[in-house]
Amino acid sequence: MPTKLEALQQYFGYREFRQGQEEIIDAILSGRDTVGVLPTGGGKSLCFQLPALLMPGITLVVSPLISLMKDQVAFLAKNGICGAYLNSSLTYRQYRAALYNAKEGRYKIIYLAPERLHTPEFLEFAKQAQISMVTVDEAHCISQWGQDFRPSYLKIASFLKELPYRPVVSAFTATATPKVREDICSLLSLREPYLAVTSFYRKNLSFKIQKTQNKLYDFHELMEKYRGKSGIVYCITRKSVRQLCFALQLWGFPATRYHAGLSSEERKENQEDFISGKSPIMVATSAFGMGIDKPDVSFVIHYHMPKDLESYYQEAGRAGRNGEKADCILLYDMLDESRNRYLLYLSEEKAGLSPEMKEVVVRQNEARLQAMAFFCHTSECLNHYILRYFGEQFPTSCGTCSNCHSSFQETDITKISRKILRHLKKLPSIYEIWTLCDLFLGIIKRVRRIPFSFHEKRAYGIFKELDREWLREVVFYLVHEGYLSLAGRPNPVLSPGERAQELENRKHIVTMKMPVKPAAPKAPPVTWKPMERTKNPELFKRLFDLRIKLALERGIAPPYLILSNASLEAICERLPRTPKELLQITGVNEEKQAQYGEEFLDVVSQYVQEQGGAAKG
Ligand code: ADP
Ligand code: MG
Ligand code: ZN
Repeated sequence: MPTKLEALQQYFGYREFRQGQEEIIDAILSGRDTVGVLPTGGGKSLCFQLPALLMPGITLVVSPLISLMKDQVAFLAKNGICGAYLNSSLTYRQYRAALYNAKEGRYKIIYLAPERLHTPEFLEFAKQAQISMVTVDEAHCISQWGQDFRPSYLKIASFLKELPYRPVVSAFTATATPKVREDICSLLSLREPYLAVTSFYRKNLSFKIQKTQNKLYDFHELMEKYRGKSGIVYCITRKSVRQLCFALQLWGFPATRYHAGLSSEERKENQEDFISGKSPIMVATSAFGMGIDKPDVSFVIHYHMPKDLESYYQEAGRAGRNGEKADCILLYDMLDESRNRYLLYLSEEKAGLSPEMKEVVVRQNEARLQAMAFFCHTSECLNHYILRYFGEQFPTSCGTCSNCHSSFQETDITKISRKILRHLKKLPSIYEIWTLCDLFLGIIKRVRRIPFSFHEKRAYGIFKELDREWLREVVFYLVHEGYLSLAGRPNPVLSPGERAQELENRKHIVTMKMPVKPAAPKAPPVTWKPMERTKNPELFKRLFDLRIKLALERGIAPPYLILSNASLEAICERLPRTPKELLQITGVNEEKQAQYGEEFLDVVSQYVQEQGGAAKG
């Protein structure tokens, strides 16, 4: 028998263990149940593969990731380790053959989907075989508190009971809040498990929340900053993957895409293009990234807010694997929560759980979504917030995240909070955060198509002098602190929270840290190649972006069908002010004038105004 260090070199070709690996391997080899919580890419596979080799008999690895099992087994084979996988991708004959070989003792490691455990054939095999260890990979799937609950994982414990003797059980995950860790230990019936948690803190990542009113525009500006670098752009729907990838290609970025709706050939090809650097920018849904190990990703942009911090941290964590500085930016706008809520209810419809189970899962999902949304509004150090969420103490502030870089001012919001609450109590309970703010600001005409009641009219415009963003932050904060409560489906509405009556006490004071707005930044340098010929490059860029926005909104591809580059250049040249002047531009006909005229003219007049202002100032 080789020692563990010899095995590390001989089978895996590594010289030393990474953080956490050795202690986990030691615990397993001493026969103790073990839970390993290591970040994605931290090297969890080795923690069970290596002891599997050193123990007599077979190790069963339960994993939900059917698509990765084959790769894992191929990886083992390359290193001279005999393994197999049992899942629904095998034909019945292949399955029988694999099971036969397993009975003959030809495999050291067998990967299998959790559903397989209780099939009679497999059980019969398992009862006779010498199973030294059962490993549960992606173990958070067992918990309803986790982001990816799979009921089939709950049956692992009963499988263990069926065995004539109990093997060592080890469990691994990259994301486990303290509650999820407890669930892993209790639902797998672990016996005094050794718990190894390595820190999730990633020193080289700078986190940033960027609030935006115009995502596409800000996204473009951001991407220009990263020209020439490799990065991943995450969105939450397949449709937006398609659109953004398309937009990036138009802007001249080498982008490719990935989502579960593509054919497996295209997924494979695009993934390879990304890893090889042929298309260093990947636009993808959360389906992308499992098992991907590209070290030089220098930015991860979330075009949409993800459904929970577990997903966020895992996806953002794909940046900077090589230890170099990397940026993780989340573009946040007011639609992000409702978008996610919609998807959340939609996905639970499909999951096929019992009604009670579904209710529990939906509630957990809502709570996690809320924690994610608060992350986008917090004034706390972002690293602090994330690590606390995962049950880790982080003593100082990181100094690199967008909150550490902003200055905040402690602001007394007692008066405004009281006023909000006073009015809210009399309003019908149909107000979400955004609609409530817009009522107070006096910028909506009605809510849910019902004419305003007496009290709504009284609340209308009471804060019309306030900044919209500012007011929203206040309301968010009041929810976070429990003065207001946000509940209901599908769209949660506001009501007084459990701490509401504290505000009735005249001595009670509410303060909040508010970002001090920096002086308006100078216009960033424009790096835009195709426009060198044009007269007003900045205007060209805006027209170009408007064209993409219109094309995306109306599903027109390619966007030059809206107006050609020549037309855009002519607009830059002649700066039309009226529909009549616009009609004289080459390529603009009555039809286009009617469809898009107004929006193009708006951009031009805005630009001309700014220029006029700049010339005077
Ligand atoms: P995860 O924790 O996400 O499951 P993996 O087990 O897939 O991570 O490992 C991530 C990468 O790290 C793999 O390429 C693996 O070969 C590599 N790796 C694991 N352990 C070591 C080590 N001790 N030295 C060097 N590379 C390692
Ligand atoms: Mg893994
Ligand atoms: Zn920070």
